[in-house]
Formats: sequence, C-alpha cells, structure tokens
Amino acid sequence: MTPVTAFNGKRVFVFGLGGSGLATAQALIAGGAIVTAWDDGETGRDKARAAGVAVADLREADWSAAQALVLSPGVPLTHPAPHWSVSLARAAGVEIVGDIELFARERRLIAPDAPFIAITGTNGKSTTTALIAHLLREAGRDVQLGGNIGTAILSLDPPARGAAAGRVHVVECSSFQIDLAPTFDPTVGVLLNLTPDHIDRHGTMENYAAIKERLVAASGTAVVGVDDAHTRAIAARLARAGGRVVPVSVERALAAGFSLTGTTILRDGLAVADLAGIGSLRGRHNAQNAAAALAAVIAIGVPGAVAARGLATFPGLAHRMELVGRAGDVLFVNDSKATNADATAKALASFERIFWIVGGRAKEGGIAPLTEYFPKIVHAYLIGESSADFARTLNGRVPYSLSGTLDQALRQAAAAAANDRAGEAVVLLSPACASYDQFPNFEVRGDRFREAVQALTQVGPVSGRADET
Ligand code: ADP
Repeated sequence: MTPVTAFNGKRVFVFGLGGSGLATAQALIAGGAIVTAWDDGETGRDKARAAGVAVADLREADWSAAQALVLSPGVPLTHPAPHWSVSLARAAGVEIVGDIELFARERRLIAPDAPFIAITGTNGKSTTTALIAHLLREAGRDVQLGGNIGTAILSLDPPARGAAAGRVHVVECSSFQIDLAPTFDPTVGVLLNLTPDHIDRHGTMENYAAIKERLVAASGTAVVGVDDAHTRAIAARLARAGGRVVPVSVERALAAGFSLTGTTILRDGLAVADLAGIGSLRGRHNAQNAAAALAAVIAIGVPGAVAARGLATFPGLAHRMELVGRAGDVLFVNDSKATNADATAKALASFERIFWIVGGRAKEGGIAPLTEYFPKIVHAYLIGESSADFARTLNGRVPYSLSGTLDQALRQAAAAAANDRAGEAVVLLSPACASYDQFPNFEVRGDRFREAVQALTQVGPVSGRADET
C-alpha cells in the first residue's frame, strides 16, 4: 500500500466504494487522514464498514470541515450531470480529486524522481500498459502495475527513492481518472490514439481530447501516437510549447520518433525491433502499442536492445484477440474487450475468413463503420439487443443468423467453420458492443466464450500463438 500522508490529521470525504474507493480510503487512513466514506449502494458501504472505515451519509455531513472529496472515477463529475456529492463539494469550496492525484502528491513528497509511466488513449491502453510492465520486468525492474487495468494505484508499493531502487510505477489512466488528477506529473506519459468514446461522460469530443491531452502535457516525456487528427494536433502543440515529445506512427515514416515498416519498428529511421512471429502483438494496432511501449521504456533508460528482446515473450492479455482454441484449420478467438466498432475493426483487419459473433448493447453508429471488412466475413452470428439493427446493416452484404445467445452463436459458427474448406478460418467473438444486455461485463462474456469453446468436442488445446498456424 502507498499511505497518503498529504492529508495527515485532516478530514477527507471519500465517495464511491465499488472499485478503487475502499483501497483509497484505507491509504488515506494509513497516512493519518480522518476519513468518512459513502456510496449510493449498500454493498460498498458494508465492505467499507467491515474493513473498519467510518461510513456515513455525506448528504448530512459538515462539508465546511472537509479538506477534500476523493471521488471514484466511475462517478459523474460533469456529464451527464454532476453527482450530488460533487455539487455539495463545489458549494462548500472543497477540492475534488481521485486516487491518481493522491498518488502523484505522495510521490512528490517522498520520491519525486521515482519513475512513473502513465498510459492513456481510446484503445490499446491495457495492452500497452501490460506490455510496458512486461518489458520492464524482463529488464529486471521492480514493476508496480495498476490503475484502470486492475489494482488500485494506492494498493501498490510506494514510489522508492533513488534510481538504484529500480522500482517503476506503470499506471493505466482512463479519462475519468485524468479528470480527477489536476496536478499529476508522470515521468513518461503515453497517449496512443483518440476516437470518440464515452462522449456521454465528457460532453464533447473536444472536452474528451482536452482531458487526455493533460496527461501528456504534464509528463516529462510525452510519447504520442500521431495517426489521428486529435493526437497529431496535441503532439504539435506540446512540441511548440517546448515539451519533450516522442511521436509514434504506424501509418507513415518518421525521421524522428517511432514508426513502422512491414513488421519492423524503426526509431529515428533505424530498425530497433521486429514483430514478425509475435502472435500476441498481431495487427497494425498492436504495432502502435508495441512502438509506444518501446518508446516509453527507452525514455526511462532501458537499453533499446533489451526492450526489443522483451517483446517476443509478451503473453498478451485475456479478451483481446486471445486465441482460446483450435480445431484443425479453425481458430477460436476471444476479443470480448472490443466493445466498440473501432476496436472490432482491428480484429477484423487481422484475419481473413471470419465467422463473426457480434452484438450486445450497441454503441452509436453500430457496425456501419465496419463495412470495408464485410468481404472477409463468411457469416455473421448476431447476439443481444442490437440484433435487429445490425441485421439491417448486414442485409444483402453479409449472410447472417439471428443467433440470440452467445452459446447458440458459437455452436452455429463452430459447425459452419468446421465445414469450411477454404483455408484458415476464425470463429471470432468481437462484439463491437457493450455486454450489459446479457452479461455483467466483457470479462464474463469472454470467459463464457472461452469455456464454451473448450467444451466443444472437436476443439483441442491451444498450442502456440495465433500466427503460428
Ligand atoms: P483499452 O484498455 O484502451 O480498452 P485494450 O488494450 O484492452 O484497450 O484493447 C481493447 C481492444 O482495442 C482490443 O480488443 C483491440 O481490438 C483494440 N485495440 C488494441 N490496441 C489498439 C490500438 N492501438 N488502436 C486501436 N485499437 C486497439
């Protein structure tokens, strides 16, 4: 745990006890703060009480006594409307922060030079965060991995003084977390890409982009993907302001920065790594993640050759183009994490003969942005509440079945793919939708797919990686 000492002896309110909230309350208490916590739900309150945290309804609290409101990132700060706790804090002039901000303040107090890498972007955050952590571990560093990817940042070991300690914090940040971190200052900030997502929570694309920009603007070194108009503008602005910017492109050659030719990653025009044969980093989108990860670890002093070697042993992440089974020429790939069309586009781009399981709670635009990939789809199996809508998009262009459930879709897709004699085929769960209509979250959806695939009689265990067939 990283005790937060900045509020020693002060009164702090914590709202939101679902994910990282409880760990945050405990870190504040360990640092000497007087914490009162609350959540709109009973479960979080019970857990906090059981952990010895004082729980009381903050609607009835004396806000004039509070030094800060520490908010969970899932609680609306601005859009669609500020949560009641936010309104109360604002009315009382109490500052509102999140756990990443608390970590940043503690780091400045106890070990301001301790390396801290923060990663954001619309897509690829978790992959890049996990890859950076992997490269650093392979280079012998003590990696503290957390934030949006899983472990709450304040549950990690504290930043350590002196480079000899070798400890590096690698933290994935959502836009909500950045919004709650007004003074955080990572050693290296990584911004991968920006496409519309969560606009309901940020009002406009411009506001969303401005929040993401703050992460790299505050960083010692800014690693910025420059393959979309928003990130390109951000990189240019940072460079004009005199910031240290390392651009990353997988679309065009860069004389300075990281770019791609074939499967080779170039640094300042010279080859530094080759992704050929690394199944966990298949696809151009993963080349973006890999190039950004290399740039980040090199920026904190890992030798380029050591970093490049580490790429080959990256195991990949569950639910992101995860190979979960194989039956002869048929691969079964779990890409449950693809909850929007942009993410699904990456999976469709990575395979050729696709039996596509798609649907759930649709995002704006549905699957219409994916039409360029329709010729690769042998058959689509529609699940969830988006079925009728997606059927209209596919009509006359791609054969489809209204499968209803994931299990039924898998049965149908597996049978059809088994009869396909046209070369390597893939049964791909890449829903381009949220899972909430049929599952608690994308992890449960992907786990269900993996289990159901492994229960199919003709499917054997996975031996080797997706591109080794
Ligand atoms: P995030 O944490 O940002 O949601 P993940 O690494 O979990 O991102 O990947 C989510 C999905 O996004 C993956 O299934 C993949 O299809 C797609 N994806 C991964 N990296 C990128 C990228 N650099 N650009 C666009 N899409 C990506």
